Amino acid sequence: MAQGWTRRQLLAQATVAAAVYTLDPHELCCGVNAYAQTAGSEKFSLKKVGDGIWAAVAEVRYKVNSNAAVIETNDGLVIVDTHSKPSAARALYTEIQAVSKKPVRKIVNTHFHWDHWQGNEVYASANPGLEIITTEQTKQNLTKPDAGVGGVPFIEKQLAGLPGEIAKLREDIDKAPNAETKARLTSNLAQAEAYFQELKQLKPALPTRTVSKTATLQEGGREIQLHVLGRGHTDGDLYIYMPKEKVVATGDAVVDWMPFLNDGYPEEWSQTVAALEKLDIVQIIPGHGEPAPKEHLAFFRGYLTDLVAAVKKAAADGATLDEMKTKVADQLAPKYEKGMSKYPVGQYRDRVGLNIEMVHKKVVKKA
Ligand SMILES: [Zn+2]
Ligand SMILES: [Zn+2]
Repeated sequence: MAQGWTRRQLLAQATVAAAVYTLDPHELCCGVNAYAQTAGSEKFSLKKVGDGIWAAVAEVRYKVNSNAAVIETNDGLVIVDTHSKPSAARALYTEIQAVSKKPVRKIVNTHFHWDHWQGNEVYASANPGLEIITTEQTKQNLTKPDAGVGGVPFIEKQLAGLPGEIAKLREDIDKAPNAETKARLTSNLAQAEAYFQELKQLKPALPTRTVSKTATLQEGGREIQLHVLGRGHTDGDLYIYMPKEKVVATGDAVVDWMPFLNDGYPEEWSQTVAALEKLDIVQIIPGHGEPAPKEHLAFFRGYLTDLVAAVKKAAADGATLDEMKTKVADQLAPKYEKGMSKYPVGQYRDRVGLNIEMVHKKVVKKA
């Protein structure tokens, strides 16, 4: 059982060489840029999306938090995803207690990325006997050295990268052209420093139970289905579906930002979303952004399908990667730029170039 392991023991297994390490922008899943306006504290808005079901929508922080889903049953709470840090999970837990004081029985992690599970320990320490559920693949990814932007080895990578990131923020503050920019950078610097301290103390609470195919929990009078539908955002995505209320929590397999493809499977992803669309859904709680109606799935799937097709076509026509980054981005913009740019972060133009690069790498070059 992983609970008794320390981070160091897990790392010894993972053999990560992280002595000098700088995070490159490719690894900033869900990251915000240093100049972004971010919230001054860890905050969520709890939005009721069904009887006893809330979407906890995260405000944008410099170290971004995932949304959570909060599901009340007759004998306790089930919470989907726990954000990027214990302080965020604690902030949400306090907000939750205003709507229900029931104990938390189960945590479900949708995938292994850092911004979705690093707060697990808050619920584990406050609720003895807590179960942490995810897919078998995600459990493996959480301790694998090179799974991508999450898991125990990635904590060490972040710790190695943070001093450089903090130094860069300080430099940017010195060069800030005006008071407003300086204020933003100063707030983001404070958040980066606090995160660094928190990350040093992190005690990873890893899954205690896994599913490898679709399963149903009968949980205190409520049916909660755990759907394993195929590869997409990662190879271990889990969808949490409440059939009576027709609500699904998707993690980053469906977001209201631009998707992050670096650990993903661009061609399979749209098929997996198509499988999700077969469910009777009224509300989606996405990994990031506001709750959305079912129609969002077709829009999101359309982007993935059109992106893959456009990159393949451009490659067949002999375009270089740099040419594609302009041509494909402009070609898809009329259909997707507005709908993929609803928030100050994760916008179409911020990410489309990297998405094109990832499709080129994974689909065209099959690297
Ligand atoms: Zn995320
Ligand atoms: Zn993710």
